[in-house]
Amino acid sequence: MIYGGGLESSSITRVQSGSTIDSALRLKVRGLEKKLAKLELKNQVLWELVRDALKITDADLGARMKEIDLRDGVEDGAITTVPLQCPQCNRVSSSQHWKCMYCGMDFEEGFY
Ligand SMILES: [Zn+2]
Repeated sequence: MIYGGGLESSSITRVQSGSTIDSALRLKVRGLEKKLAKLELKNQVLWELVRDALKITDADLGARMKEIDLRDGVEDGAITTVPLQCPQCNRVSSSQHWKCMYCGMDFEEGFY
């Protein structure tokens, strides 16, 4: 596991050890790690089913991942921003904003 163990030995954790916040954060991280592991498994299952059904390869997946990664202009292994079309004024804003840049409509609900 990538994140296991390191958290216990950090100086920040030692300073806060025993606190309610520290315990709550540890529980939250543990829960997120479990969810991530489950998502990784489901993702692998889906990939193998699709790969076998469509006769595509890991190289095809890698090429598409790179293409999608670059849609936000930065090859960083993540989609950091995506264009969002405002349902109120139909103009396009970036997902890094919480509101439409043109009419001010709140994006917090309805897009994700
Ligand atoms: Zn708008």
